[in-house]
Amino acid sequence: MHRCLRCSTQCDDNVRYCPNCGSNLAIDDMKSTVQRQYRTKIKRLEIALLLSIFLPGISYFYLELWYRGVLFYLSYVIFFLVLGLKSGLYQSYAHNVNSTHIAMLIIAIYFLIYVFQVIDVIKRTNMINEGKIIF
Ligand SMILES: [Zn+2]
Repeated sequence: MHRCLRCSTQCDDNVRYCPNCGSNLAIDDMKSTVQRQYRTKIKRLEIALLLSIFLPGISYFYLELWYRGVLFYLSYVIFFLVLGLKSGLYQSYAHNVNSTHIAMLIIAIYFLIYVFQVIDVIKRTNMINEGKIIF
């Protein structure tokens, strides 16, 4: 026995059309299978958003976007390394570089990466829920 999606009538397994409304049960079966597949990959936007705000980067792992999650943390590491090299150069060649400018630059870039991540997580969550990202 299965149920007609249009009128909820219980139909025998061997009938192709619903005896009550005439709806094609084979197509309904296909639709519900597709819907079920999507439903397992629905990600809640509020969870993704809260994670991206309070635990930046973790939200990518919630969305199962492992590659982007790793890339997010890697971007901080690379930035930190580049900055380390740069400040080393500044110290040896330019003694007059203002350290508060460097500190402000660090905060600005960290903030930009953070904001980018929040916006990106919102976009990706919607894409996953619309079935545009298929795992
Ligand atoms: Zn029906």
